[in-house]
Amino acid sequence: MSATDTLVPFAEAMERYEPVIGLETHVELGTRTKMFCGCTTVFGAEPNSQVCPVCLGLPGSLPVVNRMAIEYTIRIGLALNCAIATWCRFARKNYFYPDMPKNFQISQYDEPLCTNGWLDVPVGESTVRVGIERVHLEEDTGKSLHVGGATGRIHGADYSLVDYNRAGIPLVEIVTKPVEGTGAAAPEVARAYVTELRDLVRALGVSDVRMEEGSLRCDVNTSLAPRGSGRWGTRTETKNVNSLRSVERSVRFEIERQAAVLDSGARVIQETRHFHEDSGTTTSGRSKEEAQDYRYFPEPDLVPVAPPAAWVEQIRAALPEAPSRVRARLRVEWDVTEPDMNAIVNAGALDLVQQTVAAGATSADARKWWLGELARRANEAGIELADLAITPAQVARIAELVSAGTLNDRLARDVIDAVLAGEGDPDQVVSARGLAVVSDEGALTAAVDAAIAANPDVAAKVRAGKVAAAGPLVGAVMRATGGQADAARVQELILERLAGP
Ligand SMILES: [Zn+2]
Repeated sequence: MSATDTLVPFAEAMERYEPVIGLETHVELGTRTKMFCGCTTVFGAEPNSQVCPVCLGLPGSLPVVNRMAIEYTIRIGLALNCAIATWCRFARKNYFYPDMPKNFQISQYDEPLCTNGWLDVPVGESTVRVGIERVHLEEDTGKSLHVGGATGRIHGADYSLVDYNRAGIPLVEIVTKPVEGTGAAAPEVARAYVTELRDLVRALGVSDVRMEEGSLRCDVNTSLAPRGSGRWGTRTETKNVNSLRSVERSVRFEIERQAAVLDSGARVIQETRHFHEDSGTTTSGRSKEEAQDYRYFPEPDLVPVAPPAAWVEQIRAALPEAPSRVRARLRVEWDVTEPDMNAIVNAGALDLVQQTVAAGATSADARKWWLGELARRANEAGIELADLAITPAQVARIAELVSAGTLNDRLARDVIDAVLAGEGDPDQVVSARGLAVVSDEGALTAAVDAAIAANPDVAAKVRAGKVAAAGPLVGAVMRATGGQADAARVQELILERLAGP
């Protein structure tokens, strides 16, 4: 389908249309046991080894609410500045799907536990306040594995397997209010919001929020309306976007696609769409269900949840330092400006820079390597910075080797390449490849003399006092030493040789 999609270039789409985005994020809580039974929730366990009559939906079994899941959800709600319900109920969401053994999901519908909050998100040089509509608690579904097809989807598969280990894991859904007025920054805002939310939830200690393991999953809503029309367009919902980078790309793609649909005079269809990591495109999923299709009603097997005010205040008092406060503190420690800090956060480098500093690098060096050379590599490879095969300790060691004069920046880049290629730690790479800067003065002096002899015109200029003309001589020595000389020392030697009578 994506092959036939026509697109309007992003900048052009932004001239005529205004986007509205919305994000629905699912966070699997790290409660160790499931939402309504005592089954464990270890990731990657043998399929169907963490199940019982309750989470398999066997007749006669009854759910019991996990108190820790309620506490964790309240923790998230409070950190997102929400009001906490004094009384609320679970609801049955009825639909059939093979990975949902009960044929309904216990969720919350019109009585969510937390409502009406906000999250401040650093974007570029400013802060965008994203409204939070609701935070509610539900149970996760199982997982289907479609075998035999080319795409891993049910279409074209020979058969399907289902694993109920995940069925019944407590899942918090965090829904934003529509985010308007972002203009061309919409894709960046979407990514920055999920990043900030992930960091906040991680700081709260309620989930490991690993997108690659599915403990943080994101559905991204995007709509477009003509600029100045004063109305919203029809939205599409891109499901299960599983990396921060994909969040940004999926919004960008939907804007380009929807602009083309609207330009052609057609209407955007309200539907779910699948994001394709490889092509960066979305394709049509199914037409979107309405709430009435789920035939919600209050869950008759559970009592209402009525968290006492004193308990909520106790949870509030125990909230950890919010990521925004951590950043404010680090800005002072590292002596960086707010836009610099936002650049670190938006690059997904805050933890990495922090760990690199903890491993002994200066904050300036840590920022330089992660936001420069390493960000470029991650971008080329189409992966997150944190997924590069290099550790903060290795980056700190490279920075140390540079400041000790063992490596120059060019050699350091070679060492990074080798570490990324799995050749070992920086020290192993330096000795195995003989990458250290040539510090043998005799060898350097010989190379300098050879360069001077080969470039008599340049040498004459330098001798006449034009120090700035020495560049070609430095270049010649660097070439002769395979780039393994300290350029500053080479310059010194050249000037010494060409000084005086
Ligand atoms: Zn169970």
